[in-house]
Amino acid sequence: MLVKGLVKDDLYIVYQVPKNMCLAMNVCSRSNIWHQILGHLNHKSIQFMKYQELVEGLTSISPSISLCEKCILAKMNRQSFEKDTVTRASQPLQLVHSDLMGPFHTKFLGGASYVLTFIDDFSRMSFGYLLEHKDKKFESFKNLTLVENQTNCKIKMLRSDNGGEYNSNDFNIYCTKYVIKR
Ligand SMILES: [Zn+2]
Repeated sequence: MLVKGLVKDDLYIVYQVPKNMCLAMNVCSRSNIWHQILGHLNHKSIQFMKYQELVEGLTSISPSISLCEKCILAKMNRQSFEKDTVTRASQPLQLVHSDLMGPFHTKFLGGASYVLTFIDDFSRMSFGYLLEHKDKKFESFKNLTLVENQTNCKIKMLRSDNGGEYNSNDFNIYCTKYVIKR
């Protein structure tokens, strides 16, 4: 506490102010305190409770409540993403998502410490490969030709998180040859 003052008609009267001191004050009105005590209840309902004498001590409140920051924040809503920005495949293998996880501290029984996944965007069919080294991911990707044969569809686009997973020269040549977008 810096200074003490008396309240008279909602005015704080301060008699002794230390030298070279600026005072700033933020007082929460009685109505706003009741608004907060009653779980941020709207003013109309608080007025109703007052007239019905439903709450002990709720005797005088001002005709309006000043803007409550918490209520404003609570009523804000987030704008949804535009639907056009989401690209979805309309047929199998049109778009394949890939991700590489690892290295894991504890190796798998076969000695692998990476997991490479492929998810078909259309069917949500997932394929997982255990890898000992990162370098083997291109070989795993080529294994997807089995899926191509089974579905009679060709992989048209591969999407990964640019983590340097598919940046080898061999892979670039392969994608160019089989017209796979990235
Ligand atoms: Zn509020």
